[in-house]
Amino acid sequence: MADTADADTNAGGLVRVTVTRSVEGTRSEFLVARIRPMTVLDALLAVQREHDPALAFRFSCRVGMCGTCTVRVDGRSALACQTEIPADTDRIRVDPLAGLPVVRDLIVDTGPFWQAWASVRPYLVPGEDADVGMDAEPAVIAPDSAERRAIDPALDCIGCAACFSSCGIASAHRDFVGPAALNRAMVLVADSRDSATAERLEVVGAESGVDRCHYIYGCTAACPKGLDPARAIRRLRGRRFRGDR
Ligand code: SF4
Repeated sequence: MADTADADTNAGGLVRVTVTRSVEGTRSEFLVARIRPMTVLDALLAVQREHDPALAFRFSCRVGMCGTCTVRVDGRSALACQTEIPADTDRIRVDPLAGLPVVRDLIVDTGPFWQAWASVRPYLVPGEDADVGMDAEPAVIAPDSAERRAIDPALDCIGCAACFSSCGIASAHRDFVGPAALNRAMVLVADSRDSATAERLEVVGAESGVDRCHYIYGCTAACPKGLDPARAIRRLRGRRFRGDR
């Protein structure tokens, strides 16, 4: 990630930034001074600073952890703060995420994404006999176990919705829980300490669950944390049909 303060502001050249605005079908074009390196977020901030203070977009941590700055850059869903404008590129187009209602310019209402997330009960539900008192020894999944190996690669979701926007089914409102929620469901279904498996598998196996996935892998290609939601969906299908974790 580039830090604007440290970047070479004398690098020269211009970048043409085309942004889709809230009024349907309108686009604005801006020329901003090229810095090197330059992220998409750097370019949007330059537009706001130098041309249009009213341009609306969302960002917070700038280090790829909060998941708030997700936009589509030349059609691909990505974190603006982590997406560098290639050295040989002098123009970019920025659109809001697909499949979520636009609030203003590049800001979307992530409500539908989080509703889908909530539908899989996305937190660990301890069994009735689990010791959860203040002095309880936390139950730990053995390192290097099959369970750990299933769970660990799927843990770092930051809720950025890049996968949701990149999924042709979810973003077209075709009644699909979506990749991030199913990835989360897989993590919990694989966790032997969780007691809500049956409830989750009902959501997973419903019409809006795993069977909606066409395995285009757009979610996996878009995930900025390197997660593989398509793999999680495959695993959930296996769990449903074979009963394995
Ligand atoms: Fe973002 Fe990846 Fe989580 Fe989807 S699975 S919300 S792309 S971090």
